[in-house]
Amino acid sequence: MVDFPAFITRDSETKHILVGDESFALIPNGILAETYSRLLQSAGYDEVGKIMYESARKVAYEGQQHLIQAFNITLKTRQDFVNKLSELLFYISTFGYGIGEGVEQGEEFVFRIRHSFLGEYLKHKGLKKPVCHCLAGILAGGAQAYAELLAAPSLYSCVETKCIAIGDPYCEFHLAASKDDSTRTGAEKIGG
Ligand SMILES: [Zn+2]
Repeated sequence: MVDFPAFITRDSETKHILVGDESFALIPNGILAETYSRLLQSAGYDEVGKIMYESARKVAYEGQQHLIQAFNITLKTRQDFVNKLSELLFYISTFGYGIGEGVEQGEEFVFRIRHSFLGEYLKHKGLKKPVCHCLAGILAGGAQAYAELLAAPSLYSCVETKCIAIGDPYCEFHLAASKDDSTRTGAEKIGG
């Protein structure tokens, strides 16, 4: 059971919800899923999926960077990095995106998210491919922010390989460092 964190407050002027100092709005999952479903079907799965992934990746990267700066977070070992990835799953659960579980498989990290908020709503839409691009983006962007604290940072990307929207029992995500891009920092790639 993950409860609401105590740092959820409200901007006194705009009345927007604040998580830490980041602005949020409570938008029904149904509206998000319906909009997303229509975009996927009208504007093209690959194009819309890429936009959702990159947008979530950028925002998650910047959000985790703010936390890193605010709390002066440093990482020394790979285990420190793995621990931070586990915290990303805590955020996923806390914010109601689904229930996160993680496992490490060699060079790759495999995350399972049960009851993805998008997947649950899109189960009966007859879609043929995974739909949780934004969750993959959140994992990739969050991981990137922490990877850059390591002595030899890599560029991380994340792909959803199973999805409840297409009949799988849970959504599964593979996070891996892309070797050929290791000379560029995530900030350069994500900042655009
Ligand atoms: Zn999914």
